[in-house]
Amino acid sequence: MSRAFNFSAGPATLPESVLVQVQQELLEWQSERASVMEVSHRGKAFVECAAQAEADLRQLMAISEDYAVLFLQGGATALSALLPMNLARADQTAEYLLTGHWGEKALENAKASVNTHIVASDKANSYRGIPAQDSWKRAAQAAYFHYTSNETIHGVEFDAVPEVGNTPLVADFSSNFLARPVDVSRFGMIYAGAQKNLGPAGLTIAVIRKDLLGQHGRNLPPIFEWQNQVANDSMFNTPPTFAWYVVGLVLKWMIAEGGTEAFARRNAQKSSQLYRAIDGSGGFYTNQIEVAARSTMNVPFMLHDEALDKAFLKESEAAGLMGLKGHRALGGMRASIYNAMPLEGVQALVDFMQDFAVRHG
Ligand SMILES: *Cc1c(COP(=O)(O)O)cnc(C)c1O
Repeated sequence: MSRAFNFSAGPATLPESVLVQVQQELLEWQSERASVMEVSHRGKAFVECAAQAEADLRQLMAISEDYAVLFLQGGATALSALLPMNLARADQTAEYLLTGHWGEKALENAKASVNTHIVASDKANSYRGIPAQDSWKRAAQAAYFHYTSNETIHGVEFDAVPEVGNTPLVADFSSNFLARPVDVSRFGMIYAGAQKNLGPAGLTIAVIRKDLLGQHGRNLPPIFEWQNQVANDSMFNTPPTFAWYVVGLVLKWMIAEGGTEAFARRNAQKSSQLYRAIDGSGGFYTNQIEVAARSTMNVPFMLHDEALDKAFLKESEAAGLMGLKGHRALGGMRASIYNAMPLEGVQALVDFMQDFAVRHG
């Protein structure tokens, strides 16, 4: 057996060179005579490793000193619940733009802590697109405006950053973090769980405009007060050190590969190749998402006859292509083609899909 091309939505594929490096230095990391998992997060070696990861992320995203970078636990889900507590007063309203499952979840998680207002939702359109800006119903004086940059299950991605005026823009970038250049200065906060496009599960990154913190007027438990994490370099308590270390290696790999612009080009190439195969299959495969909103990261597709799903999954696995089963909410298939998925992986998938369609058409 050998490693397959892994199209899993998350936890997801990692760069093979990073895994090899992890393997090589697993027993003895640097001069610690122990693995990175076994040393203090407050020791010199780990503190340097952590700071380097932050510096590399700041370089990749051109993050200014106006922003704090936090390395937290709890996943994007916990962050979506903590963000209204940290960025809004209890009497304020927060705006939510819904383009799929994760936006809905973020909204539900916010309701206990802030008045929520749905600016627009594409639910009636089965989340196949992005509501046009002239249909949005804005709230006055909102504490922030939240949207999901890439909806991982539905396969809907914003091509541009929404224009929201002076309201701080907050975005869940879990499944397209560092997939392309992003102008951080447009945002109040960007957050992302690591396990899609960045590293192992267990680490959640938040990039937050510093002046937005500490304005909430709430009496939060100290561990949930993000200002405490800023003041302690994300080490208010023990951080997920192993995940942080691996993310650091992935960031180094990204810099060596040419940074976000290089990945944007590759991701456009990979996704357009896959959509071309779907659209050119004469209806054997379909993707229902409006073309302008199609994700470059998660490509859901249906077979024309769902009775073929089982054979598709079985034969694709035998061909070394794994993780293609769609989310249970939608059925069908989903190919997640994050930064670490090489072009050869997408080529192998397209070849398999064309061969399968011939044999079962
Ligand atoms: C996976 C995902 C989440 C949930 O992440 P957890 O780390 O499981 O909390 C939230 N938002 C988006 C866009 C995701 O892809």
